Amino acid sequence: MGLKACLGVESTAHTFGVSIVTLDGKILSDEKAVYKPPMGRGIHPRESAQHHTKTAPTILQKAIEKAKIKPKNIVAVAFSQGPGLGPCLRTGATVARALASYLKVPLIPVHHAIGHIELAILTTGAKDPLVVLVSGGHTCIVAFAGGRWRVFGETEDITLGNLIDTYGREAGYPTPSGSAVEADAKKGKKFIDLPLTIKGNNVSYSGLLTAALNKLKGGKWRREDLSYSLQEAAFTALAETAERVLAFTEKDELLLAGGVAANRRLQEMLKAIAEEHKARFFVVPREYSGDCGAQIAWTGVLAYKHKVKVSIEKSFVKPKWRLDMVPIPWRKT
Ligand code: AMP
Ligand code: MG
Repeated sequence: MGLKACLGVESTAHTFGVSIVTLDGKILSDEKAVYKPPMGRGIHPRESAQHHTKTAPTILQKAIEKAKIKPKNIVAVAFSQGPGLGPCLRTGATVARALASYLKVPLIPVHHAIGHIELAILTTGAKDPLVVLVSGGHTCIVAFAGGRWRVFGETEDITLGNLIDTYGREAGYPTPSGSAVEADAKKGKKFIDLPLTIKGNNVSYSGLLTAALNKLKGGKWRREDLSYSLQEAAFTALAETAERVLAFTEKDELLLAGGVAANRRLQEMLKAIAEEHKARFFVVPREYSGDCGAQIAWTGVLAYKHKVKVSIEKSFVKPKWRLDMVPIPWRKT
């Protein structure tokens, strides 16, 4: 069983990734190329898709070589079916369809956010956590119940990654700007008043973004202080909603996943909440926090073992696919 593996293709946004993961959860390879937009601009879907088309052959070859696996031991090909940017998703889907039909193996559709969650669980050893998933495409607080990942709280407008990247771009950093804004925020000392919006268990970040951008343009405040204040306001709102959900669900594990999970200050805040509620705290390892093929290959393994697959004719991408719409046969309620 150790030798047999699933090949996963990730292509929802800026990253084109290919990974090979064995049926017992060993990550044999995880290769990626990340599209970087020119300074001052965000992701352009068509340009990102062109990047994926160009890099796909090399990334695929590297992933197969690194895994040292024979084609006959690849028993399934998984792909990010959604949600994400249409042109990017279609590029990855085309690669995956071609591979699955060439290898004569099942094609497995994977929901990108569930990929983040499952890979975070595999790499941390969490069992039944409350998950705070924060990335470029997602900001939600989810727990497993009744056969699905249920959304207990989410953003009502833009995601946390989007907030940070849009602010970072205007502040003069390349996209994605999470780590640059984090480094800037570390140098900040003064908290500048910014609006913090919580609605029930949900957060809203667009007002915060507008206020931060206005202050940035106003030129009256130090950028480090603004970056610091933006992080504090955004993370406090999220931490407060996460605490409400943790108290309500009484989960004894809290897991931070997605690209923004790399942020130390966010980790610190959520850890404090977990401790307060006697829950164990887990963070996805940095190398697997951002988009990667491994999240798709591993979720592909779980799905493959439960006979989840899609015919090539019906394997259309789903740019808007909610994670609470996806049945999860491999988890017990
Ligand atoms: P993903 O969509 O999962 O690949 O995550 C990408 C997002 O994570 C982007 O919005 C990045 O700016 C963000 N990100 C990466 N590292 C950090 C960090 N250290 N602090 C905050 N956000 C980060
Ligand atoms: Mg992602």
